[in-house]
Amino acid sequence: MQRQIGELVIECVQGDITRQDDIDVIVNAANKQLQGGGGVDGAIHRAAGPELVKASKALAPIEAGEAVITEAFDLPNNWVVHCAGPVYSHNAEVPKQLAACYRNALALAEDKQAASIAFPAISAGIYGYPLDKAGAIAVQAVSDHALAALSLQRVRFVLFSEEVYAAFSGALSELS
Ligand code: ADP
Repeated sequence: MQRQIGELVIECVQGDITRQDDIDVIVNAANKQLQGGGGVDGAIHRAAGPELVKASKALAPIEAGEAVITEAFDLPNNWVVHCAGPVYSHNAEVPKQLAACYRNALALAEDKQAASIAFPAISAGIYGYPLDKAGAIAVQAVSDHALAALSLQRVRFVLFSEEVYAAFSGALSELS
């Protein structure tokens, strides 16, 4: 499903973020050490090849909420943004850190004059963020950027499972 806010198209698809050939920037739900891992991080590193870990480790460590950008190597995209999502807890900083991941990734994509960016459900896997809360924060952060968008014309959430797709598309359709 998709919505348009200002000039920005925001869409949710179910799929694999390493297979988004028409997208300039993909976002990795990385860890602070930027040295590869499981989940979406493992899939992105496998598809990009060994150069990606060299490039990302050179920029480590980062804090929760921060993001850095590298080339995309063997991926079909131009750039990879690596975000360190927060591990879910009731600490009041955690939702702010998750929103900062999205905001910082969007800013890095704008710096590269990218037209499109794809996000996975950051922190909603091993890091344990409840899907409805993660979806609401993600969709709000992207929508907050919409009227300030410069080069970006399309933001795609690529959700791996039906359950995560349902949470994010529900949040997107509820956006006022
Ligand atoms: P985190 O540690 O930030 O929670 P995970 O990689 O464990 O990150 O999970 C984040 C989300 O990415 C989960 O919803 C997971 O199902 C999803 N995911 C796993 N592999 C892929 C993939 N290839 N493309 C898109 N999303 C993926």
